[in-house]
Amino acid sequence: MIGEISAILKQSGAVAVGFAKAAQVEECVWNSFLDWLNRRGHAGMSYMENHSTIRRDPRLLLDGAKNIISLAFPFKPAQFRKQDKGMIACYAYGLDYHDVIRKRLNRAVEEMRESFGGEYRICVDSAPIMERYWAVKAGIGEIGANGAVIVPGHGNMVFLAEIVTTLDVGHTGNPAKLDIDSRRCLNCGRCISECPASALHPDGTVESSRCLSYLTIEHRGDWREQEAIEAMNTDVGKNIIFGCDLCLRNCPLNHSIPSTTIQEFRSSKEVMELTKEKVRRMEQEDFSRIFKGSPIKRCKLNGLKRNIGENI
Ligand code: SF4
Ligand code: SF4
Repeated sequence: MIGEISAILKQSGAVAVGFAKAAQVEECVWNSFLDWLNRRGHAGMSYMENHSTIRRDPRLLLDGAKNIISLAFPFKPAQFRKQDKGMIACYAYGLDYHDVIRKRLNRAVEEMRESFGGEYRICVDSAPIMERYWAVKAGIGEIGANGAVIVPGHGNMVFLAEIVTTLDVGHTGNPAKLDIDSRRCLNCGRCISECPASALHPDGTVESSRCLSYLTIEHRGDWREQEAIEAMNTDVGKNIIFGCDLCLRNCPLNHSIPSTTIQEFRSSKEVMELTKEKVRRMEQEDFSRIFKGSPIKRCKLNGLKRNIGENI
């Protein structure tokens, strides 16, 4: 059954599909996550503190859950924007992955339900689940020094999603440990040295309060904390329109991988041609039109103007 399910899910655009037995997250991994929370690694993302019982045990997401299917969807663009136009994280060149992947997986799950029965819960950043842990458990990749999951042949420019299911199909995962020595990254250190804000730690954790992606996408309002001000005052910080992905862009594992074949993730012309000047002059009506269905709508027009240093 694993082969048939994988084939259906690969038709939805997933480049890697793996199966893990649904169970409690291992204690050492859970404790590392709690340490990160205690160090305020999540900065203002207080939702990371919520639903810890479910996050620890994803069987609570669905009655009778037996398996967690982990999936990876590639998003590497055919071309990156020119840096002098202002930085936009490349995952945001196309349509919002939450909507795109959910829509694709809804269709796949319908087919699986008809063929195999069972119940399914699709998670695309929409439930408290430790997605990188489950990706490793399901054997679709390993965690690199930049904290992202490396999928063999597809680097770490991938979106992860999960399907929790009552189907009991066994598992495909390897017993890779999550400690740093078992990672299949090259340990070249480029992700850490190229991070303009020193937000990445050698243990693969991110200090969100320094991370330019967090500060320009998730954070609301002005940057008041010292580390945020320092990060935003770096050359890269001053050049950002939306997000940062230098820890991915500089990873050699992403240099020779193919660009995404998922149509909806192909770069939008308007995002590729967006400049700070256009943001400066942008009215709400233009913003709503240009970023309809785009992840950039998440930070709202106010956030985009704040990112480029425009007083609003
Ligand atoms: S997204 Fe940018 S600032 Fe954040 S960890 Fe990666 S390189 Fe550093
Ligand atoms: S940049 Fe180097 S150290 Fe960092 S994840 Fe990629 S291969 Fe690993």
